[in-house]
Amino acid sequence: MGKRVVVTGVPGVGKTTVIEKALALLGREGITYQPINFGTFMYEVASEEGLVRDRDEMRRLDGQTQKRLQKTAAQKIAGIEGYVLIDTHTSVKTPTGYLAGLPEWVLRDLMPDTIVLVETDEDQILLRRLGDETRVRDREGAKGIAEHQQFNRALAASYAMMTGCTVTVVRNPDFLLDNAATDLADVLR
Ligand code: AMP
Ligand code: MG
Repeated sequence: MGKRVVVTGVPGVGKTTVIEKALALLGREGITYQPINFGTFMYEVASEEGLVRDRDEMRRLDGQTQKRLQKTAAQKIAGIEGYVLIDTHTSVKTPTGYLAGLPEWVLRDLMPDTIVLVETDEDQILLRRLGDETRVRDREGAKGIAEHQQFNRALAASYAMMTGCTVTVVRNPDFLLDNAATDLADVLR
């Protein structure tokens, strides 16, 4: 028995916060998911190889290197069984364009049951990025953020076609974190 749920969202949407809160809600009911951060698996290898000093440098590595790190992470995560929640990206914005977070060779390893897109309005994401000093967020306008979210929906549809997984959107607007966490918990339950 088990379930694999992939949770994605553009940087600054509050994905990790919503995940933590949803898992806390489920914990009270005795439902335990193992939270896995895809970027952390990539970063462990990248920092060991001396390629980057922080996780936000990874999306500026050359494409081949990002794909190698991605493949290695997917293979490791594929070996984890049970109820697994994978915090990652539908696509990563790189200097040469959108890089699919779950290309075919990653999907084949992960085989998710569901892909969740955490979204909110682009102007809110813009302000959240400006307010976050713990990360090196991309300097990007609201239009760029809107385009990224739109592209992610298109890409998620193709992931559904490749795997038969379901795709669902969880909205995380300002001041409604509790609702977002409840909605995500409903998906996981
Ligand atoms: P995060 O902490 O979720 O923002 O992830 C940190 C970094 O990990 C991202 O900026 C990407 O460079 C990388 N990353 C995470 N998931 C993926 C993925 N599925 N494919 C490629 N890169 C990823
Ligand atoms: Mg995060």
